[in-house]
Amino acid sequence: MTLWFIRGLRRGVVTTRYPARPDGSARFLPAPPAFRPEALTRQTADRLAGICPSGALRRDGAVLVYDVGACTACGRCAAEAPAAVTASGEFELATTDRSVLIKKIPIRGEAP
Ligand code: SF4
Repeated sequence: MTLWFIRGLRRGVVTTRYPARPDGSARFLPAPPAFRPEALTRQTADRLAGICPSGALRRDGAVLVYDVGACTACGRCAAEAPAAVTASGEFELATTDRSVLIKKIPIRGEAP
């Protein structure tokens, strides 16, 4: 931290080049989940909805509803079902339309 601060003072650069260039530290940050519908069963969807601490996940019939705006990227869902959920690595989620943040993930073998 101290070296980073001193280097920044010497170079006169106190911020990263983001968004012109990707920030190298981004790969160490927690990322919201990405879901694999082909590995998502009804039971898995219910289990994930049950463990999500922020209420970002709920099952609605044949789909898992994922509210990206409520997700804290805690990683519990990915730890619970690693075959069906991975970290997305996606950070650019800003939008002016709230509805864009609501994702509907189809559940394997269920008619939508
Ligand atoms: S990362 Fe955490 S908050 Fe986000 S959907 Fe998974 S369990 Fe919920």
